[in-house]
Amino acid sequence: MIFAIKPFEIHDGDGIRTTVFFKGCPLRCKWCHNPESQLFEREILFDSELCKHCMACTGLCEANIIQNGKHLFLRESYTFCKKCEDICPSDCFEVTGQSMSAEEIASQVLKDEIFMRGSGGGVTFSGGEPLMQVDLCVEIAKFLKARDINLAIDTCGAVPKSSIDQILPFTDTFLFDIKAIDEAVHLSCTGVSNKQILENIRYVDFLGVPIEIRYPYVPSMNSGEAEKIAYFIKELKNVKRVRVLAYHNYAERKYECLGRPYPIPNIPIPSKKEIELVAKKMQNCGLKNVVPA
Ligand code: SF4
Ligand code: SF4
Repeated sequence: MIFAIKPFEIHDGDGIRTTVFFKGCPLRCKWCHNPESQLFEREILFDSELCKHCMACTGLCEANIIQNGKHLFLRESYTFCKKCEDICPSDCFEVTGQSMSAEEIASQVLKDEIFMRGSGGGVTFSGGEPLMQVDLCVEIAKFLKARDINLAIDTCGAVPKSSIDQILPFTDTFLFDIKAIDEAVHLSCTGVSNKQILENIRYVDFLGVPIEIRYPYVPSMNSGEAEKIAYFIKELKNVKRVRVLAYHNYAERKYECLGRPYPIPNIPIPSKKEIELVAKKMQNCGLKNVVPA
């Protein structure tokens, strides 16, 4: 179950990459900019701002009705028959989540092979959490490795160690997020403990696989964690790069389209200068190669 395959990505590892976004994630980060990735099941995004109330979709099923002379979408009655999606002239509907075989995914990403090779890039499995579907990851990875394609795994780390072991033989780089070292902060930001995550990062580091760490910096949520994260990373041997990722709220509209409230509506957007200062603070803890992004 995946929700996107995007070519020409340049922030998901080295070079130009094609990123496969797997659906389903064990975390619920309050700032998540891919809320459509969190549930494993297919979902419908309905953008009411695009609706012209032409009524073409009403009467086709119980999900699209007329109320007070206007179109109303009843999410709970939607059945994925897709008639409304096909007929809507304003593209108000979008189903997210598609079941694809490993072979189908591999053949789609390999269309961009020339760009990957020319740029020192490759393929990144992201999400959601790709390792929640580790068997599928391994099957795709076998196709990619048969063509010697570089593979990066962008994981939240909240997966059993056995899942790391399964994908390890095919993986060139792990991209891990660290949201917080303080467990209470991590719990309040993501809804889950960080114990397994930190253990898995130490484990991958111990095995000598190159790692990139990302610190998603969210003011008043995990902004007090920079130095603690820096000291944790300093103990590791194979971290090639640390990126400080600035919080943004571009996904707010997606939450509305999914019929969910945006969890953190009043968080200020950090300035470029603030992110540079955070990177500097981490460098002052003894880290090299900290990139403000
Ligand atoms: S077809 Fe599209 S634009 Fe027309 S009423 Fe339905 S959702 Fe709105
Ligand atoms: S780990 Fe990533 S995909 Fe999962 S909830 Fe957090 S930000 Fe979203």
